Amino acid sequence: MHSDSHEALAALDRAHLIHPVSAWRTHEQRGPTILTSGKGAYVRDADGNELLDAFAGLWCVNVGYGQESVVEAAARQMRELPYATGYFHFSSEPAIELASKLVEISPASLRHVYFTLGGSDAVDSAVRYITAYFNATGRSTKKHFISLERGYHGSSSFGAGLTALPAFHYGFDLPRANQHYIPSPYPYRQPDGTDEPAIIAASVAALRRKAEELGPENVAAFFCEPVQGSGGVIVPPRGWLKAMRDACRELDILFVADEVITGFGRTGPMFACEHEDVQPDLMTVAKGLTAGYVPMGAVLMSDAVYNGIADGTPAGQSIGHGMTYSAHPVSAAVALEVLRLYQEGGLLANGQRVALPFAEGLKQMLDHPLVGDARSLGLLGALELVSNKSTKQRFDPALGLSDKLFAAGYRNGLIYRAFGDNILGFAPALCYSEADFETLFRRLRSALDEVLADPAVRAATSD
Ligand code: PLP
Repeated sequence: MHSDSHEALAALDRAHLIHPVSAWRTHEQRGPTILTSGKGAYVRDADGNELLDAFAGLWCVNVGYGQESVVEAAARQMRELPYATGYFHFSSEPAIELASKLVEISPASLRHVYFTLGGSDAVDSAVRYITAYFNATGRSTKKHFISLERGYHGSSSFGAGLTALPAFHYGFDLPRANQHYIPSPYPYRQPDGTDEPAIIAASVAALRRKAEELGPENVAAFFCEPVQGSGGVIVPPRGWLKAMRDACRELDILFVADEVITGFGRTGPMFACEHEDVQPDLMTVAKGLTAGYVPMGAVLMSDAVYNGIADGTPAGQSIGHGMTYSAHPVSAAVALEVLRLYQEGGLLANGQRVALPFAEGLKQMLDHPLVGDARSLGLLGALELVSNKSTKQRFDPALGLSDKLFAAGYRNGLIYRAFGDNILGFAPALCYSEADFETLFRRLRSALDEVLADPAVRAATSD
């Protein structure tokens, strides 16, 4: 791209484009980083820099960039039938095939699929259906929702209150009176993070306590991510998800697995629920479903929820939840091809194979003076940076460390997520080779060395 057209574009961006979850005035001053192309695990920016993408866009481009067969699938469907509504009993072949495929590959409890445009509206749809379910089955007092501290469930009007990250509440009158949180199962920040049964028991007890406090007859559902993503890639001990699922069953509240990030091979198997054979009442998915090539999400539900709504609604009464682009045929055609790449194309298997060098590479970073914790499940991982490894003290936010970390990564040809509290998030595409991981960790070490060479950071660090 010519630099004058680059500058003109940047000016138009500053003037007109509102960026998700950004400080608007800061963005106007800083301007955009414009990406122009991508191939495999790499993207190119408008200045001609080539960068290794260690975050799969926004943990979504699981198949990597430039998969021609996906482009072909979209083009074929656009030529054939670019749009078909799902209203008025209309349907389309790719939407039908995709719904049945999702039922086939997801936990056996899930039998019905409603398609959305992404994760936020999948969560929002789940909330609407849960409300309709309890009303339809004569339990209309069940209106309270419980989720995890540091959880992320998108930014719809209601979902942003299930999300327990301050930036999503500030100025938006959230959380609502019927939204409640319990602590995260966060091993690194637990007094004895190695006592896994104790962490699980504490979570179960917190859920029971919260439900008892509200009265279980008033609680509709518990929402959780199998691995908390935007909260800092918090990997719970093995057995945690199953224990929470069982506790929900005992309390008679619905268990919703939000697999928007963890789905589609991100943690190894197709869905993270498979690690522990968890059977949710509802599941939300998006991102890896279409690998970010086009927008699509879905909410999957059990027979019990589906039949509860269907049988509890007067005959002929429409269940009033819909979107023009629900079950969009182009998105569905893309998703079918993406699923083929995960399965027959070998990407799921490759992701499982390279999870080991990924985990080892992260662990090796623990010898770096800035790195306090390394954690991962499959190809979802994080490093937590601390100013003092023995006290696990975080850096003073006034240091602006996350901006420095992101900038140093970028200078070294690497894109990762630098969260506010100095956690670095990684979600490499499932097509990564071992050589890609060598590049990732070489560039990462050099970026961290650069940050540590900053006198203010050096002064704040006691190894
Ligand atoms: N749920 C989880 C667990 C997510 O990580 C996200 C997005 O990151 C969402 C929901 C919202 O999805 P979207 O950004 O597609 O609306």
